[in-house]
Amino acid sequence: MFYRDTPGPDALAALSGVRHACLWLDRSDRPAAAAPVTGDESADLLVVGGGFTGLWTALLAKRADPSRDVVLVEGGRVADGASGRNGGFVAASLTHGLLNGIGRWPDDTDTLLRLGRENLAAIVDTVAEYGIACDLVRSGELDIAVEPYQVEGLRTFAQLAAGHGEQVELLDADQARARLGSPAVLGAVYDPDGVVLVDPARLAEGLRAACLVEGVRVHERTPVRDLSDAGDHVEARCDGGVVRAERVALATNAYPPLLDRIRHFVVPVYDYVIATEPLTDAQWSAIGWAGREGVGDTANQFHYTRTTADGRIVWGGYDAVHYRDGFSPRHDHRDETYGRLAEHFFQLFPQLAGLRFTHAWGGAIDTCSRFTAFWGTAMGGKVGYVAGFTGLGVGASRFGAATMLDLVDGRSTERTRLEMVRTKPIPFPPEPLRGLGISWTTAAIRQADANEGRRNLWLRTLDRIGLGFDS
Ligand SMILES: Cc1cc2nc3c(=O)[nH]c(=O)nc-3n(C[C@H](O)[C@H](O)[C@H](O)COP(=O)(O)OP(=O)(O)OC[C@H]3O[C@@H](n4cnc5c(N)ncnc54)[C@H](O)[C@@H]3O)c2cc1C
Repeated sequence: MFYRDTPGPDALAALSGVRHACLWLDRSDRPAAAAPVTGDESADLLVVGGGFTGLWTALLAKRADPSRDVVLVEGGRVADGASGRNGGFVAASLTHGLLNGIGRWPDDTDTLLRLGRENLAAIVDTVAEYGIACDLVRSGELDIAVEPYQVEGLRTFAQLAAGHGEQVELLDADQARARLGSPAVLGAVYDPDGVVLVDPARLAEGLRAACLVEGVRVHERTPVRDLSDAGDHVEARCDGGVVRAERVALATNAYPPLLDRIRHFVVPVYDYVIATEPLTDAQWSAIGWAGREGVGDTANQFHYTRTTADGRIVWGGYDAVHYRDGFSPRHDHRDETYGRLAEHFFQLFPQLAGLRFTHAWGGAIDTCSRFTAFWGTAMGGKVGYVAGFTGLGVGASRFGAATMLDLVDGRSTERTRLEMVRTKPIPFPPEPLRGLGISWTTAAIRQADANEGRRNLWLRTLDRIGLGFDS
């Protein structure tokens, strides 16, 4: 395996003085929190959760019908969750990548690809329309190989993608290194149109501002404690009062869900990120990367990396950690993973020895066993939910929101007719089997990566059943 997991002294030195804080949120110009719910309120549509999914739900609902009274309540502040902490890769893929989509819904692949492209274009248009300053760059994604067997995998992937009309370029080692100057890179696939990059917290804050412009009533610091069916409406109990709404849209991602049924399908999995100080001009010339592409490597345990507007490198992924006690802010940091990430960083970029890391953070991903969103309704159709984006929800959350609105409003659309929308993932077993199964699977994935990607009997069995674990 190319990456060494034990951090050496240089990696640890580069982390000394690192702030346990998310780079995107560590700013003094975040918008002040909106007032919490105080007293009882009513609404046509209540959206619970102020990440991308909730913000898109509220914005799309209001734009479709400006007379609809839409309230969004967020337990903390908008962008506090995964939406403010992620890598900022906005992918067209709605299916956690082409291979997962083809494997699960071969008949719908081309429709899902088209809907994904339309969804990404609509996100870019919305950013332009509302003038959201979120450092959106249309730089595409470079998937790199750092081991010979991965070069072969990229070749197969490029052929498959081309067969579905995707405009990807297969690059040899020299062509790939011209984009990303790492001596470790052996080849790459470049997808110029399938991904744009953003500063995710600024995108979320921009969507919040757009919601306010359109007349959505936003409340922050308002956790919804429970929901109850009151016949012709739903009551959401908050600390400061009750919100009565005809329809409720749940966008709570990996957080403890308000509906028990979601618990069976989602496990919170923590993903961690580190960010460097701004590079000097000499450091940039040592690695090239003038195109600002989003970069991913291609093992099962993968890293993602990108540059920022102020000249840093963000580097995350690889360790996807599931904790037996589930979701908790206690898991927001993991020094063991930061050390490992720092070591891997300098293996990919030995020219950057001496560079320091300034920020380190983690966040919860709503992993489900098929790695893509799933939808449903409850309380006689008055409550809709979407969850399970796994690690690729920045772009897909808009599609997830639009589909959730279709369902909660009782509309049959091209989206709701998709098999992906009509079916649910295989549920995870209850604890302790859940934790044991995930530990076995994680160990097997590590073993596969150390063994040129070869999957053992356990992974092959899970593949056959369609049950997986990913980030
Ligand atoms: C470290 C990391 C890196 C990632 N990188 C990428 C990437 O580069 N590209 C990509 O596509 N995806 C990435 N993802 C995944 C992506 O961030 C998520 O899929 C996406 O942000 C999900 O948005 P959301 O609105 O569903 O969830 P969240 O942003 O988590 O929002 C849920 C919100 O609901 C609120 N909430 C929960 N319960 C309640 C309640 N009872 N009452 C009121 N409010 C409540 C929470 O406070 C939270 O703000 C990454 C995730 C992580 C953690």
